[in-house]
Amino acid sequence: MTDGRHIPQDDLALHAMQALSPEESAVVRAHLAECAACRGELAELAGDLALVAVGVEQHAVPAGARERFLQRVADDAAAPAAEQAARPRVVPIDEARARRGLMHRIPWTAVAALLVITAGLVIKIGDLRLEVAEQARTIREQSAANARAQQVMDVLTSRSAQHVLLTAAKTKPAPTARAVYLASRGALIMQASNLDPVPAGKMYELWIIPMSGAPVPAGMFRPDAAGTASLVMPQLPKGIAAKAFGVTVENEAGAQSPTMPIVLSGAAPAAGE
Ligand SMILES: [Zn+2]
Repeated sequence: MTDGRHIPQDDLALHAMQALSPEESAVVRAHLAECAACRGELAELAGDLALVAVGVEQHAVPAGARERFLQRVADDAAAPAAEQAARPRVVPIDEARARRGLMHRIPWTAVAALLVITAGLVIKIGDLRLEVAEQARTIREQSAANARAQQVMDVLTSRSAQHVLLTAAKTKPAPTARAVYLASRGALIMQASNLDPVPAGKMYELWIIPMSGAPVPAGMFRPDAAGTASLVMPQLPKGIAAKAFGVTVENEAGAQSPTMPIVLSGAAPAAGE
């Protein structure tokens, strides 16, 4: 089989296909163990066979296939240039990328979808900016209103504020109190002047005399040395329709009903609303 020389290509191919008889195969293996040239030849044949094997299921070699296979191997050997061209060309990754180019790798549908989404987001961001600006404006206005309200409160409640009552000339100033009341909000501000001092343990108490029902306590206060006192936004229930206001002197713990006499009183004019 070897003729003392190299193994014919036909036999190498059959060996690669495991189509030789055990005896023939043993001879081939013995030669291959000593011959680098035939091992190289076999490796090349095995490589070609591997390419075929990847795409087809393994079957026993049918009758006639051996001859056709050998013929093909012989043709390939006779036309090495043609065989070379038929083999897949291996190119470096960099070269493959360069040839495909950037434009071929961009999925334009996805790009279009992204553009649509981005446009939507831009519009949404614009809306949110307007909303934030509107809220900021509201907060600024609210802050300004709060600051003004705080200033009013500070003036009314400051210990260093001067309270002056203007009266007709040559009239001795009498104790007075002025209440501003907004029933719907339960809001009340009262300023009193020229009050007589109260004994220790006593305080003045303001009462709302409702249109119906018992008088409602509206806050305790004690005049300063000048006889001035104020009540600013005491805790009151909302919606008490006031017929009049009165001030009494009570124990400083407060009373549930007014103790006579009523030292100051005033009828409430008809509410504006
Ligand atoms: Zn050999």
